[in-house]
Amino acid sequence: MAGLENKARDVIGDRTAKVLTDNFGIVSIDDLLRHYPRRYVVRGELTDIALLNAGDEVTILAEVLSASNRPMRGRKGGILEVIVTDGSAKLSLTFFNQAWREKELKPGRQGLFAGKIGVFNGKRQLTHPDYEMVPDGSDVDDAVAQFAGKFLPIYSATAKLPSWKIAKCIELAIDSLDEVPDPLPNYLRERMGYPTLREALINLHKPTDLDLADLARERLTFDEAFLLQLLLVKRRAAARALTATARPIRTGGLLEAFDKSLPFKLTGGQLAVAKEIEADLAAGHPMHRLLQGEVGSGKTIVALRAMLAVVDSGGQAALLAPTEVLAAQHLRTIEKLLGPLALGGQLGSAENATQITLLTGSQSAAARKEALALAASGDAGIVIGTHALLSQAVQFNDLGLIVVDEQHRFGVEQRDALKTKAKLPPHLLVMTATPIPRTVAMTVFGDLDVSTLRELPLGRSPISTHVIPVLEKPTHLERAWSRIKEDVANGHQAYIVAPRISAGTPEDADLDFLYGEESKSMASVEELAPELHAGALKGLKLAPLHGRQTSELKDATMKAFAAGEIDVLVSTTVIEVGVDVPNATVMVIMDADRFGVSQLHQLRGRIGRGSAPGLCLLVTGAEPETPARVRLDAVAATQDGFELSRIDLEQRREGDVMGASQSGAKSKLRLLRVLRDEAMIESARDEATALIEQDPALSYESELAKALAQLESDTASEFIDRG
Ligand code: ADP
Ligand code: MG
Repeated sequence: MAGLENKARDVIGDRTAKVLTDNFGIVSIDDLLRHYPRRYVVRGELTDIALLNAGDEVTILAEVLSASNRPMRGRKGGILEVIVTDGSAKLSLTFFNQAWREKELKPGRQGLFAGKIGVFNGKRQLTHPDYEMVPDGSDVDDAVAQFAGKFLPIYSATAKLPSWKIAKCIELAIDSLDEVPDPLPNYLRERMGYPTLREALINLHKPTDLDLADLARERLTFDEAFLLQLLLVKRRAAARALTATARPIRTGGLLEAFDKSLPFKLTGGQLAVAKEIEADLAAGHPMHRLLQGEVGSGKTIVALRAMLAVVDSGGQAALLAPTEVLAAQHLRTIEKLLGPLALGGQLGSAENATQITLLTGSQSAAARKEALALAASGDAGIVIGTHALLSQAVQFNDLGLIVVDEQHRFGVEQRDALKTKAKLPPHLLVMTATPIPRTVAMTVFGDLDVSTLRELPLGRSPISTHVIPVLEKPTHLERAWSRIKEDVANGHQAYIVAPRISAGTPEDADLDFLYGEESKSMASVEELAPELHAGALKGLKLAPLHGRQTSELKDATMKAFAAGEIDVLVSTTVIEVGVDVPNATVMVIMDADRFGVSQLHQLRGRIGRGSAPGLCLLVTGAEPETPARVRLDAVAATQDGFELSRIDLEQRREGDVMGASQSGAKSKLRLLRVLRDEAMIESARDEATALIEQDPALSYESELAKALAQLESDTASEFIDRG
């Protein structure tokens, strides 16, 4: 008899075990039993053959209609053609030189057939499919007892190991099981009416009833949600228990001077979030807060105010940005917002003034040396930088606050690398670029408290967005260029965004991976800029901007654009995040179907930042009603970032939804879907919070504590792996 932790090969034999390990990473019996069926076919209910498409990888239940062997033309050997049917449509199975199979594939018998649907002479067929005949009443075969059940589980399988062979392995594993320790607390299991873990595994793999299988799946999904939330709630509780330097608001300080100098009033939302942050900073425990909000809702000022509060208390703040363009942009924005308050150390500067410094990977040795010195001495109250901030060489005098901008690009490990530079655990404020649905926040950032900015500052101009389908309306592209000329004539500026840097090379290697050769035809910055300069936008000042330029050039270009010296920026998505030039009113996005929904929303957030209304044109060659066009229409139809991020996430794989931030936990989520299982995640969160409050060490739930420790060590080892 075996437990879950035993090796799978002890019950299924070495050779099969090796195939399972190589293809699915299955090592233990637990791994094997966690290879859940994707669906079931019902014995006797044949698969609807009419619905199968060429290219589909299928496992179908069908009945043999006829089998005939004929000699091959002009060659030795024969072709066995077997026709199977679901009663209406037919499918042909072809075997070369395997006449002996005719004995197994008898008319009237049912079988499971697996393979990839191909087309030959206009007919759909399977060539050399794997198959397993379903025993009928007359010949019950113990070896295939699997098929005595009414519901046949279908597993994700490979050519070497078809679904029913996996089913047999699982059957053996289930038969060998003695006790299955159950991590789900009894009180919860009973309250929710769930089966035990052992029952759930059996009901999922060998259901006698599909309702029981559903309930088993629900329980196992809840297990995943519950464990993940426990991990996050525990981390959050642990962070709260740490001691941090309290940074209460000081009257007469830099923050007060800054508030007085602001040319506008903070929005209600900004004030409310500011209160939450100030309370966190004033407490003796590290703040762990996520600031998420609509594009353009003014997150930067909220974060800056937090940094100033920390500087007022004698500490320093670090602002971590994902790209050099954004880091440089932050430096400019913050210097502009602070004005004389950022000129600390200079003759005649304001009384409370501090210094701001920038640290990036590509700056000159002299600039770097100066920045390092300012950070280490504490003279720089605010240190802005890219990944370069994480380097060993960077030291602070008293790092009190870390602000991470556009967090989805950083992993937990990077946050942690910065934290080690502080004497006491620092306060942490994480900002996301775009809004995210509640349960995504709860799962991906579940160890953080969440503040949300929904409203945009008053006086923000509306952005209207239109799709320009170049296939159907080629002349509309001309109208886009004339619109740019008009706006420039009126003193405004424009962005043109393209998916590629140059014709031959991808801006992003993913593009080639996703689109292959096709990506070569996409618009590129290096082709588009000269083309427009010589043609449609003749006479305007155009400049290209992309990630392969030197940071000096990028920086100079952005500065010139911000100063109004450039009319039109022709750019890749390097302008996606944070870039803030209120005078820009038009954005034309070429091959817009190549971008994700949130990415488009973020891009379009670069316009409509001033008093003039914004216009965003999504140029696409995608055909009407294709998923790409539907996506673009959705972006054109709404400005609600929360709704768009939902649409975006629905189209992505779950692994991408989770991002890098919970990479270790991610691999444990087999069933849980962050968007679909919202209600379950919320209740798991509540249960996890209640349990950790009552029994922080889980001393009354030893199996649960074990499972949690396992998850913790898996996430920790992932952390070490990624160094
Ligand atoms: P995001 O939330 O997308 O990062 P930003 O912080 O870049 O938005 O803010 C967008 C613009 O709005 C900036 O130009 C900023 O100065 C301005 N802004 C921020 N708060 C207000 C406010 N309360 N009133 C008017 N303008 C504001
Ligand atoms: Mg921003």
